[in-house]
Amino acid sequence: MNGRDLSATATAFPEHEVKALLREAGVPVPRGATAASPEEVAGAADGLTPPLVLKAFGPGLVHKSDSGAVRLALGDPAEAAEAAAGMLRELLAQGITPDGFLVEEQAAAGAELIVGVVRDPSFGPVLLTGLGGVWTEALRDTAVRLCPVSEADARRMLASLRGARLLHGYRGRPAVDLDALVRLLLAIGGDGGLWERLELGEFELNPVIATERGVIAVDARYLPAGRASDVTEPAGDRPAVPASGGNGGGRPERPAGGDTGDGPVARTDFTALFEPRAVAVVGASTGRPNFGNMFLEFYRATGVPLVAVHPEADEIDGVPAVPTLADADADYALVAVPAGRCAEVVRQAAGIPFVQVMSGGFGEAGAPDLEADLIGAAREAGTRLLGPNCMGVYSPRGGQTFVGGEPGPPGHVALISQSGGLAGEVVKVGERRGLAFSRVATVGNSADVTPAELLRWLATDEHTSVVGMYLEDPREGRALFESLMSVRGRLPVVLLVGGRSVQGRRAAVSHTGGLVGDDRVWRALAEQAGVTLVTGQDDLIGVLTFFQAHAGRLTAPAGGAARALVSETRPATGAAGGAGSAVLVIGPSGGAGVLAADAFDAAGLSLDALPQDARDGLKALGIGVGSSLANPLEIPVGPRGRPELVREAIAAIVARRPYPDVVAHVNVQSFFTYGTSAEPLYACARNLARAQEDLPGVRVTLVTRNGECAPPGVEDEVRAIAAGAGIPVYRSMEAAAVAVAAAKRFTRGA
Ligand code: ADP
Ligand code: MG
Repeated sequence: MNGRDLSATATAFPEHEVKALLREAGVPVPRGATAASPEEVAGAADGLTPPLVLKAFGPGLVHKSDSGAVRLALGDPAEAAEAAAGMLRELLAQGITPDGFLVEEQAAAGAELIVGVVRDPSFGPVLLTGLGGVWTEALRDTAVRLCPVSEADARRMLASLRGARLLHGYRGRPAVDLDALVRLLLAIGGDGGLWERLELGEFELNPVIATERGVIAVDARYLPAGRASDVTEPAGDRPAVPASGGNGGGRPERPAGGDTGDGPVARTDFTALFEPRAVAVVGASTGRPNFGNMFLEFYRATGVPLVAVHPEADEIDGVPAVPTLADADADYALVAVPAGRCAEVVRQAAGIPFVQVMSGGFGEAGAPDLEADLIGAAREAGTRLLGPNCMGVYSPRGGQTFVGGEPGPPGHVALISQSGGLAGEVVKVGERRGLAFSRVATVGNSADVTPAELLRWLATDEHTSVVGMYLEDPREGRALFESLMSVRGRLPVVLLVGGRSVQGRRAAVSHTGGLVGDDRVWRALAEQAGVTLVTGQDDLIGVLTFFQAHAGRLTAPAGGAARALVSETRPATGAAGGAGSAVLVIGPSGGAGVLAADAFDAAGLSLDALPQDARDGLKALGIGVGSSLANPLEIPVGPRGRPELVREAIAAIVARRPYPDVVAHVNVQSFFTYGTSAEPLYACARNLARAQEDLPGVRVTLVTRNGECAPPGVEDEVRAIAAGAGIPVYRSMEAAAVAVAAAKRFTRGA
C-alpha cells in the first residue's frame, strides 16, 4: 500500500496491506507473505520461522476465525500448504471465494489488547484501547481519547483500564513492555500518527499482543468510510460508527469570517459584543409590552446608550426610536421579532458588528431553512450573529445584560451557555455567592458564533481569568476540543454538559435541537484538556468560585506534575500521588475527618500523611494529646477553643511539608449549640484569612459544615471575611473536594 492514496478507495484493505502500512508507521507486525493459491503457500512461507499462521483474505472475510479462515501453530511450509488446501475447500463450501492467503510467523503468547480508531459523529477521530483481544466485547474494559493523544494521555488510558494489573505482571507473569505499548498507541493516535491518514470507517488492531519483550499487531482491519461493517465497541456503549464523518450533520453553512475553531486565534474581536458603545433593540411594542420592552427596561438599569427600532414610533418607553436597523448607530442589536421576520431585520444590520437573535423557531424547532436564511442575512450584512434562540450577553463592565435588576460587580469570571435560562440562574446565584463576572454569552443554536470561538477569544481577554461553560449540543465537538487544547494550562475551564444521561439527552434534543454526545468522549476530552467536567449547577458555581478566589495561586509546585504522572503509569490505586495532588484537611470531629477522607478520595485526591517533624511541631503547640496526629487532622475548633490554633497548626505543618491545598472545616452548628454568639466563628474565619495571607503559596479553603444552623446573615459574614483574603467557602466537603480537584487538574496541565 506504499504511496497509495488511502482515501481513494472505499473497499476494505486486505490484512497484509494494512500491516504494510503499520510497519511503515513504526508498528511491529509479524513477518509474512501472501500466496494466490494453496499451491503457492509453501513457496511464500519459505524463509519464515515456524510456527506459522495461515489466514485467508478477501470479500466476506471480516471475522476470519468465524469462517475457519485462521490456522495457528503450523510446523513448516508444507503443513501450511496443506492447511491452505483444506481451508480453501471449507471456504468454498460456505460460498466464500478468498482472494488469497497470508502466511506469517506466529507471535509468542502474551496479554492481548485491542487498539482502534473510530470517528465520533461530533468529536471526530477517537482512539480506543482495551484489554481482551477476542474477549474485548465480553470484558468491555476499554479507554478512549480524542486524537491526537499525548504520551501522558496514552499512559493514562492504559492505567485507567480495570484490568491494568494484568499489564504490570500478574500471577508470576512478567510485566509487559509498557513503553512499547505507549509507542504503538502514539504511532496510531498521536501527533502525526496513522489516524491523520485514515478515512474512517473503522480501523482496528485486534489483537495487539504485548509481552515483556515488546508489542506486535497480529491482526489489522481497515475499512474506509462508506464501508463500515460493524462496530468496534461492545454494542450499547456508544452509537454506531456512521458511514461517513463530518461535524456538520446537515447544518446550514456558517457565514464567512466565522472562526470554525481551526485557527490559532479568534479572528473576531468580541470586545464590542461585551462593551458596546450603544445597543439597538428591535421588536419592542408601543402598545403591548413584550420581550423587547423588557430588555429596554433591563438596559436602562445598566445605563448603556439605547435606541429602539420601530417603523412608526418616535420613542418607546422613553427610549428614542428609529424606523429601521439601518438607521441605528450601535455596536449591538437585539432582535426580538417573530422567526419569519428575523432575516429581513438582520439584513439591515450593516455597520453593526454584532446582532443577537433572541427569537426561537429555527433549527431547534425543525426549521433549518429559516436558520440558513438568517445566516445568509448576517453574511450579507457583514455582521456576526449570536443565537438564534438565545438570551444575549451579560457584562457589568460594558452595560450588557439579560437579567433584571442592578448589574453585579464587574469581575473575572466568564460564562458561555447554550441555555439562556440557566445562564441567568448561574449569574444571579453565583453573584449571591460572591462570583463577579467579566463576560457572559448565551449562544442558543450557535448558528454563527460558537462556544469554541468565544473560548479562544476569552483566552486573550485581559478581564477573564476563568471560564464556565454550559453545553448541550456537541455538534461542534471537534472545534471545541481544539479550542480547549489551545487554551490548556493558560485558562481554567469548567464544563457542565447537559444531557449526558439517556434521559437528559432526550430533554436536550427538544431543548436546543442538538444531539448530545457520548459521555465517555466528554470525560476523555476533559481529561485531555485538563478541564473539569462538573455534574450540576452547584458544582459549576463552586468550582468557578475556587478559581476566582485562588486565581493568583494556580501554579504547579515544582516536581509535582511530573511525580503525579509517574504514579499514574502504575496500577490505579484510586488517588494519584505526588506533591501536587496532596491535600491537608484540618478541623474538629474525628467522624467528619473520616468522611472528608472519603470525599477527597472520591475526587481522586490523596491526603498524604503528616511527616514526623510536622507531628513534633504540632505537639509543641499542645495538639495531639489524646488524639492521633493524622491527615485529616483533628483539632479542637469551636466556641471555646483558641481561634488562633487552626492558623498556628497550619503554619507548623506547611513549614515542614508544602501541602499546596489546605482545607479547614468548622462545624457551624457547634458554635450556636454550645455557644451563643457568632464572634468565635468570625474569629476562626479571621485566623484562616491571616493564615492565607501569611502563606501565599498555599490555597486555603474553608468548609462551613452545617451552616444552616447559623442565624441569618452569619454565613454571609463568614464568606465576606474569607473572601477578603481570597478564600473560597463551601457548605460541604464534597463540594470543596470537587473544587480542589479541579485546580489540581488545571495545574497539572499548566
Ligand atoms: P479474526 O479475523 O478472527 O479476528 P485474527 O487475525 O485476529 O482473526 O486471528 C485470530 C486469533 O489468532 C487472534 O486473536 C490471535 O489470538 C491469533 N493470531 C492471529 N495471527 C497471529 C499471529 N501472527 N501470531 C500469533 N497469534 C495470532
Ligand atoms: Mg482479530
